[in-house]
Amino acid sequence: MAYVIAEPCIGTKSAECVQVCPVDCIHPRPDEPDFANVEQLYIDPETCINCGACASVCPVEAIFPEEDLPEQWKRFIEINANYYKK
Ligand code: SF4
Ligand code: SF4
Repeated sequence: MAYVIAEPCIGTKSAECVQVCPVDCIHPRPDEPDFANVEQLYIDPETCINCGACASVCPVEAIFPEEDLPEQWKRFIEINANYYKK
């Protein structure tokens, strides 16, 4: 289980979550080249330790524990994981 970034991040990409993640598992960070090319940020499910820090700071409530994702955003589990399979 991991936290997942869903649709509200698209077009927001404010990156507060990146600042608070203790294990640096949210990418691309604003200082990474890929940041300009993505529509949202993604959480690496293999590295996330489920601390919840990211979800508390997101201004648009885009981040959920996988098991609490609203039904219409379930596809974001795969969308987040796929970013790390490149
Ligand atoms: S804080 Fe929320 S909106 Fe901002 S980048 Fe993170 S997930 Fe996206
Ligand atoms: S739940 Fe914690 S470890 Fe997982 S992405 Fe959010 S801040 Fe990082």
